[in-house]
Amino acid sequence: MKKRSAEFQSSSILPRSKKSLGQNFLADERVIARIIDAFAPQPDETVVEIGPGRGALTSHLIERAGRVVAVEFDRDLVPLLKEKFGARDNFSLVHADALALDFCEAISPASRARVVANLPYYISTAILQKLIEERVCLTEMVLMLQREVVERITARPASGERGYLSVLVEAYSEAETLFDVTPAVFRPQPKVWSTVVRLRLREKLKIEVEDEKLLWSIVSAGFAQRRKTILNNLRHAPEALSAAIGRAGGPGVVLEAASIEASRRAETLTLEEWARLSRAIQ
Ligand code: SAM
Repeated sequence: MKKRSAEFQSSSILPRSKKSLGQNFLADERVIARIIDAFAPQPDETVVEIGPGRGALTSHLIERAGRVVAVEFDRDLVPLLKEKFGARDNFSLVHADALALDFCEAISPASRARVVANLPYYISTAILQKLIEERVCLTEMVLMLQREVVERITARPASGERGYLSVLVEAYSEAETLFDVTPAVFRPQPKVWSTVVRLRLREKLKIEVEDEKLLWSIVSAGFAQRRKTILNNLRHAPEALSAAIGRAGGPGVVLEAASIEASRRAETLTLEEWARLSRAIQ
């Protein structure tokens, strides 16, 4: 009975955590301090926090960063965040879906910002892709993700974990795995371990390709069926890509032109090999 009344009391002050919005709140000051120290907010910069939640990281960011733009999707958390931080003149709250946000506009008048987030896991890979798309105005991100997602995005060629996202992250950023975090430090506790990773966005793509859109359609087609060879996957590429491959002589010819053995699988290709393949098709 005692436990029930305690739960009732806390939920009357704080909105209930929503599983549907990936709400696993940080409840350990040591882990919070580790993330903040790794991020190292500076007094002369604008930082963006995605999903401030109940403000565990936000309160520290406000103390150390020049300006904090927090993007929260849950309308029930807006009053709480406004009450806690609304009086601070270096804090602004954007009530929006981070997946649909124009980050360059959100950080204006600043033209560049860094991002920190304990990401909602249900959309973490979609947010990661979105942040890479917004790289014109984002320079670095320190993100907490599921450990297995970090393993995937940092996977090297020939690793079974290597996929479309690993190639994308390698092409546009320099990734540094920082530390693992146990489920025990969250409320409620997730089922999986988390990892904090730093991604420094590159100003330019790491490889030389003329048509980036074409490159990503090739990588996507290459990984379409992981068990198949690169040749087989290219043979079954979507129509527009298939037409381009056809104009360049067909799947076998473009692979030979890129010096890639037809029997290899996509996960074994290096970034440079994807670039060669792209140049052979364009
Ligand atoms: N930063 C807080 C912490 O560490 O305790 C909360 C982290 S919690 C894992 C994820 C947060 O992202 C929640 O506050 C959730 O409401 C918010 N969120 C979920 N989907 C979102 C979206 N599409 N755009 C922005 N925020 C979102």
